[in-house]
Parts: sequence; structure tokens; C-alpha cells
Amino acid sequence: MHLRHSYRIYPTAGQRAVLARKFGCARVVDNDALAARKEARKAGLPYPRSADLQKLVITAAKKTAERAWLSSVGVDPLIQSLRELDAAYRNFFGSVSGKRAGRPVGLPRFKSRKDGRQSLRFTRNGFRIRGNGKLNLTKIGDVRVKWSRALPADPSSVTIVLDGAGRYHASFVVDVEPDHLPEVPAEVGTDLGLTTYAVLSDGRVIDNPRFLRKAERKPKAAQRELSRKAKGSKNGAKAGKKVARAHAEVADTRMDWLHKQTTRIIREKQAVYLEDLNVRGLARGRLAMSVHDAGWATFRRLLEEKAGRYGRTVHVVHRTFPSSRLCSACGHRDGPKPLQVREWACSTCGVLHDRDLNAARNILAAGQADRLNAPGGPAGPGVAIPRQARPVERGTRLGDLRTTGIRAAGAGGIPVREGEEDVKPARCWMRRSWS
Ligand SMILES: [Zn+2]
Repeated sequence: MHLRHSYRIYPTAGQRAVLARKFGCARVVDNDALAARKEARKAGLPYPRSADLQKLVITAAKKTAERAWLSSVGVDPLIQSLRELDAAYRNFFGSVSGKRAGRPVGLPRFKSRKDGRQSLRFTRNGFRIRGNGKLNLTKIGDVRVKWSRALPADPSSVTIVLDGAGRYHASFVVDVEPDHLPEVPAEVGTDLGLTTYAVLSDGRVIDNPRFLRKAERKPKAAQRELSRKAKGSKNGAKAGKKVARAHAEVADTRMDWLHKQTTRIIREKQAVYLEDLNVRGLARGRLAMSVHDAGWATFRRLLEEKAGRYGRTVHVVHRTFPSSRLCSACGHRDGPKPLQVREWACSTCGVLHDRDLNAARNILAAGQADRLNAPGGPAGPGVAIPRQARPVERGTRLGDLRTTGIRAAGAGGIPVREGEEDVKPARCWMRRSWS
């Protein structure tokens, strides 16, 4: 399986200048190819093949006066740039034909020098890691890397990314064998909330990280400062960078927290059941800020990635499942439960429920039943979780917000797929809203 490992790198001023030129060349090649495809389409010609396109926008273009400078950079990143464009087209066609799950993917767009994120991909021949820990990139030289954790295997490619905050990262793709953990006799249902982050069916409450709220003040202050600067001015650009840096810090803190939470769940539980929520739909509503903050889509993606790697199961219960209405004690289907109903007593068996914990237990039961009934499901029934104390804090149940006119949920949580990993992040719904 492919995993992505990202590290901060510190190119020298000279290397940054070379990188900037390469980013620029890759962008021009990419845009030329995109324009050629668009023109072919307009003229009613067949879809240009990648090989022909490569000859046109790289080999032939180098011989022209206006694109001669393309030969000053290595050809590898340029070809990679075209591959990414191909992947973007594949995603678009797949999405249109319905073969690709998830959010609809639009046509590739022209890239701009002003895009916050610039990237450049090197395949196996384009880079190597030196004995002294430096990353050698073709025609750039040895770049200092902060190895925050060990690479688990030899990387097959590396993407150099410059983000809006002016930071450089090297993102390696490594192919590793799954590393299955010993089985544990515990499964858990997870109910996601807004006041609390999540309630697990074993009674554990994952609280919303308050440090994130605190961290958020910084980007807001930076944003206010930016709004006082003249547009297009030097000070405006400086303030813009400050905003980007502050946002990047919040994003890092959030990601770090999500990694900790998901690792803990995957380590302790054999199977995790989630409700299929339409986070994308919700993000558009008035609850947008909290939803973004919570990063649910990422939560699920991380769980799924880690489950694949460590031999655990993540199963998503269909979103029409009435997790908040069912009594987890007797199975009676009670009436609708508006958001303000934090606890309720079952009209049949009389058990008093905390709505989140009850929903988490229902999700657990529904998920286990799903897997039992599925062809090729697990060998035995899931392990029942002993009931424990009620969670101390309760949150808004996302499941009940489904009535707010939400589109069908996408599959979400797509693991790294070779070739398209560089296309995806820029379109992530979370990032887009920050830029
Ligand atoms: Zn009941």
C-alpha cells in the first residue's frame, strides 16, 4: 500500500530560485497542454494523447524562441507535470461517467503564478537521499530535510511543495506492507457531534480541542490586519503571507490532534463504525465554521488509512439509518428527536438515553449487522461493548442536521492513489475555503 510521508525542507536561497523557475516551467507546460486539449475539443478533434502532447509542449516547444528557456530545467518534472494533468483529466472523466466515487470533479483549470500552492514531482531517477540525510534533487542539489520521523521504506517519488505560507515540504510516496496489529476483542460505534467532537459507544467522549479555538484567534487577527492594507501593495503581500502562515499553523495543530485521536482508536479497537454524514453539504451551511474546525472528513480518512495499514476495519453505516431515534436497549423506533433533545426516555422500555451515546450504540449495532449480512463478512459476530457511564458532556448530533437539504454523501476517504496524490490536496474542501 502507498503511504505519504511529508517533511519540512529548507532549500537555500539559490535552491529556492531554481525551484521557482522549475515551478514556473512546470506550470507553463501544464497550461500549454491544457490549452491544446481545450483547442482540440473546440475544433472537434479527438482527445490528444499524452505522448503527442508531450512532444508538442515540451520537445517542440523548446525549439521555439518563446519557450526556449524550458530547456534550462530538467525534463523529468515537466513530464511529471503532464502526468498530473492526465490524472486530473482521468478524475474528471471518471467523475462524469460515474466511475469515480465522491465529490464531482471539474475540468482541470489553468494554473497561476499567484496560486498559493506550487508543486513539483520527481520520480525515482530524479532524487536520492544521501548518507548525510540531505535530499538530492536533480539540477537543484542537496537540500536540508527535517526528518521528523523515519521513512518506513525506499520512496518511489517525492513531491516538493511550496505552500501559501512560504514553507517547503518534501512529500514522499512509500510502498509498505500492511503492518497488522494483534487482534483485540473490541469494536466501537462513533457518533460525531459539534459541542463534543465524538461520543464512542463505550462511553468515551472525545472533546473538541479547545486549543484549536485559541489558535484560531491568530489567523483572525492577521486577517484583520490584511484588510487594512492596500490591495496589491508590498505591505499587503506581507500581511497576506502572515495570514497564510497563521492558517497553516492551525491546520498543522489540527492534523496533529486528529492523528493522535485516530491512532488511539485504531490501536484499541478491532472495528470502528461511523455514520455516513455529508460533511460537504454541512460545510456550506451556517455551521460551517464548526464543521471545518472539526475536520470530520479528515477524521474518517485517517481512520480508514490506518485501518488498512494495521489490519483493522472501518465500516460506514448508511446515512438514512435513524441512529438518533432507535432505542439501543429494546430496538423500539421512537419519534423524531430535534437537536435540542439531549436525552430521552424510550416509550416502550423506559430506559433513559443520552442521545449521543444512544446513537453511538445504534451505529455500533447497525455496523455489526451490516458486516454480518454482507457477502464475505466477518467470521463471527462483533463483540458487544459493555455499557458504561454516560458521557459527561453532550453535543449536537450531526445526524439530525441531515434534514437541511443535503446532497447525497460521497465516498470520501480516498487513500493515496499513484499519480493523483498531487492533484487531490489542492481541491480538498477544507483547504479551498481557507485560501
Ligand atoms: Zn426501549
